[in-house]
Amino acid sequence: MKTVLIIEDEKDLAELVAYNLEKEGYRTVIALDGKEGLEAARRSTPDLILLDLMLPGMMGTELCKTLRKQEKTATVPVIMLTARGEEIDRVVGFEVGADDYIVKPFSSRELLLRIKAVLRRSLPEKEAGRAITVGPIVIDTDRHQVRIADEEIVLTTTEFKLLLNLAERIGRVQSRDLLLKNVWGYNYVGDTRTVDTHITRLRTKLGEAGELIKTIRGFGYKLEEE
Ligand code: CA
Repeated sequence: MKTVLIIEDEKDLAELVAYNLEKEGYRTVIALDGKEGLEAARRSTPDLILLDLMLPGMMGTELCKTLRKQEKTATVPVIMLTARGEEIDRVVGFEVGADDYIVKPFSSRELLLRIKAVLRRSLPEKEAGRAITVGPIVIDTDRHQVRIADEEIVLTTTEFKLLLNLAERIGRVQSRDLLLKNVWGYNYVGDTRTVDTHITRLRTKLGEAGELIKTIRGFGYKLEEE
């Protein structure tokens, strides 16, 4: 399954894009500003990044340049989302390093075609399993395995996705609503207590490391390195 990181400050648009991509079998991660996007790009090693040009705090062009300079993200394909035709030459040129661009407003079909084309062009899949490490927890994102001190922790798919979602945005609070959307999907009709129940189970399975999942009362959860 390919992971697409969506860095876009228009929340409705980001969620709509995520919804459409998930329907097509992609996994999605949303970041709503540049700083969060940079962090998510490092953490989640996405297969492709959709990057809004106009972001608060950091322009998409700056972010793209930064991604290119960092070893972990240097080769990840980037499609720039832009509303400004005049910027396009600069965006797709080597100056910034984006692979392609799409002009807003775009149709879901148009976006999917563009993503497929860019992925086809990008390098063959990395061979080694990708791993995210949080304290003693090692999450193998390709094999869907979690290990603590070399011992495998058997998680359900939902628990795995929940842990991965928290790990990809380490140190950042995620609301129950957001977790519900990212883990259970947009069509899920349930209440946020579902999230609490699964967090409880996940904590138990992780043993001592379960304490790294912090509860933010009345809001949500975050995973901390220590
Ligand atoms: Ca924007």
